[in-house]
Amino acid sequence: MNASNLQKKLSFRDRVIAKVQIFNGKHKKLSFLGFTYAVCAITLYNFMFYFYRNTKRYTALACILLFFAASSSFSYPAMAPAISFESDTSDPERKAPEVTLISDEEVAQSDAELIESVDIDEEVMAEADEIVNPDAAEIDGYASADEILEDDTAMNENSSYETDKAAEGFSSDDWNLILVNKQHPIPDDYEFSLGTISGSMKCDERVVAPLKDMVRAAHKDGVNLIICSPYRDINRQTMLFNNKVNRYMDGGMSYMDAYNLASQAVTVPGSSEHQIGLAVDIVTNGYSTLDEGFGDTAAGKWLYENSARYGFILRYPKGKEHITSIEYEPWHFRYVGVEAATLITDEGICLEEFWNRYVD
Ligand SMILES: [Zn+2]
Repeated sequence: MNASNLQKKLSFRDRVIAKVQIFNGKHKKLSFLGFTYAVCAITLYNFMFYFYRNTKRYTALACILLFFAASSSFSYPAMAPAISFESDTSDPERKAPEVTLISDEEVAQSDAELIESVDIDEEVMAEADEIVNPDAAEIDGYASADEILEDDTAMNENSSYETDKAAEGFSSDDWNLILVNKQHPIPDDYEFSLGTISGSMKCDERVVAPLKDMVRAAHKDGVNLIICSPYRDINRQTMLFNNKVNRYMDGGMSYMDAYNLASQAVTVPGSSEHQIGLAVDIVTNGYSTLDEGFGDTAAGKWLYENSARYGFILRYPKGKEHITSIEYEPWHFRYVGVEAATLITDEGICLEEFWNRYVD
């Protein structure tokens, strides 16, 4: 602090005190007000003076804070555009998509992309419109009923999966009840053994028998079920997801826009039931696209009515999109066991609701 500053400060204080003394002399009853004014004025002056002397220091501090705020991933939810399939965005059960499994590198990339304005070309938008489900982009191949039931002559009609435990209720420890979605990613330590459905088609080995039984039963009823994309490992899921994000970004989208859109077109890695081998996508002769129309085919109807008998549920039903955050998928079936599947189907609820009501 140099001499002239000191002089200024002293004279300001003197002026305030002098003013207050005159005021107090005139209005003895209001002397408290004068005293308060003096304290406030001098304190504020000193405070401002302190900042004035340290301008550079505080400017630097403000810049650093601003930098952290701008580069932090916590600021994304506020910036993310509201891309959604749901019409009712005011629903309290609706949750913002959680950003999981993004590497630091991707976050840094997204920072750079966020700055650029969104200029989506028509091709990308056309594609965005046509995608209505997480499975469509992920078909690996197909296994027809004949292939599945080949060399499968001695299947046990009274398979053990039919005799799930009965009255003791549903436990969150039941392997077949595991809830997997964006809010509940697959646990890091989740383990299971793969069994073969047909050729390279695999799923959790405990699901192979009920799945084959279901395909066989449909076959008997004259309905041909074709399994596609059962088990999918995390690497493939990550690759599919990143490819999708990159394609959108190539089209001019920011990383966050691309991520949001991709998370509806391809399941976010770590949140797909296909990764734990408990889900299968099913199509039929003459209808091999994964879209809503499958629900109107003979196979779609047969599955809707009979899948629970084999322990499978239609995982993403119509009307529950606001809970599952996934579009109606009449082709995606998830194994939960006969007892849970029957209850879920009878009550017309989705797996999330089942967990809320019945799982301890
Ligand atoms: Zn699926």
